[in-house]
Amino acid sequence: MPQEFEIAVFPGDGIGSEVVVPTMDLLDLLGREIGGYRLHFETVPAGAAHYQKTGSAFPRESMSRARAADAILLGAMGLPGIRYEDGTEIAPQLDLRFELGLYAGVRPVKILPGLPEILANPKFSDVDFVLIRESTEGLFASHGKGQILDDREARDTMVITRETSEKLFDFSFRLAQRRKDNGHTGNLTCVDKANVFASLAFFRSIFLEKAKQYPDIVGETAYVDATALNMVRQPWDFDVLVTENMFGDILSDLGAGLMGGMGMAPSADIGANHAVFQPCHGSAPDIVGQGKANPTATILSAAMMLDWLAEKHNNRACQHASDVLTRAVEIAYAGGDLLPYELGGTAGTEMICQKVEEGLKVVLAS
Ligand code: ATP
Repeated sequence: MPQEFEIAVFPGDGIGSEVVVPTMDLLDLLGREIGGYRLHFETVPAGAAHYQKTGSAFPRESMSRARAADAILLGAMGLPGIRYEDGTEIAPQLDLRFELGLYAGVRPVKILPGLPEILANPKFSDVDFVLIRESTEGLFASHGKGQILDDREARDTMVITRETSEKLFDFSFRLAQRRKDNGHTGNLTCVDKANVFASLAFFRSIFLEKAKQYPDIVGETAYVDATALNMVRQPWDFDVLVTENMFGDILSDLGAGLMGGMGMAPSADIGANHAVFQPCHGSAPDIVGQGKANPTATILSAAMMLDWLAEKHNNRACQHASDVLTRAVEIAYAGGDLLPYELGGTAGTEMICQKVEEGLKVVLAS
């Protein structure tokens, strides 16, 4: 009997449904071809448009369904024109991270051969690192709690806890180990600003304590400003980076830039029992309804979802499906003739999905 998995799908706002719906189609096709597991999708409402319509951005029922699901696939949430009274954007994806304890935001930065090279350097195609962004505290702990004092001053507070930092570093060292077992260098860099902030000096000290438990991995430290410089100067030297929430938010967009744009960058927010898989990008209202949204990041996030389900449930068919889907995306771009709009080309959502589907057939037939 194939193992069954319930997937809660939040299409969300803007281009969210444009990238999520064709990704579900590809997952359906893949599941039928491979067998050994079955995904059941349940579409769940939340987001800015839902808030405008109903007055609720994230119904309790949607959260319950997310909690009950085996995994969560998310498009994008938030629209700049629809905000709470304090001026902040509607972001149920942050509530999901906080409520489900999804402390590890995994953002792989890997260059797909066949796309224009963003940096003119022969080593550029070697870029293959993972940025892990702590996703439940840091400066984002202040979300919804920032203070504006008499219109004279505003404050947001950074929170670093030992409990979350230890879980985050354990996760990061284990990921670096898994990559080392697959031929990577086995380096984990803690990215902080320990020279200025007590909270980040604390973060670093916990990292250095943890590093002693993982002698097989080289635990290093770096400042966030120097890391930003090196992500442009020599990104091929990185293996795994782990950082505070706000720094991770910024550096992961820089990583997406290296990959060719927001539509290329996948992500996973992982906790002890739950995980959300979504592209790094937002709802991109500037291109909504034009067929220009690049679904690659969502498709690669779906491959990460299959990989996570495979590991959690020891399901080999899911692992195979994850590998096949990732390879299909690589094949789609390898010929050099698939150029998404965001890279100056004319390949939109439909064309890219079609190429990935062709890639799937090639991999499955081989
Ligand atoms: P958020 O803060 O919610 O993450 P954002 O303000 O960073 O969102 P995005 O919605 O990610 O903004 O859009 C940033 C830019 O990237 C926009 O010009 C948008 O059109 C482009 N973009 C984002 N996602 C895609 C995509 N999948 N395909 C093509 N272009 C995209």
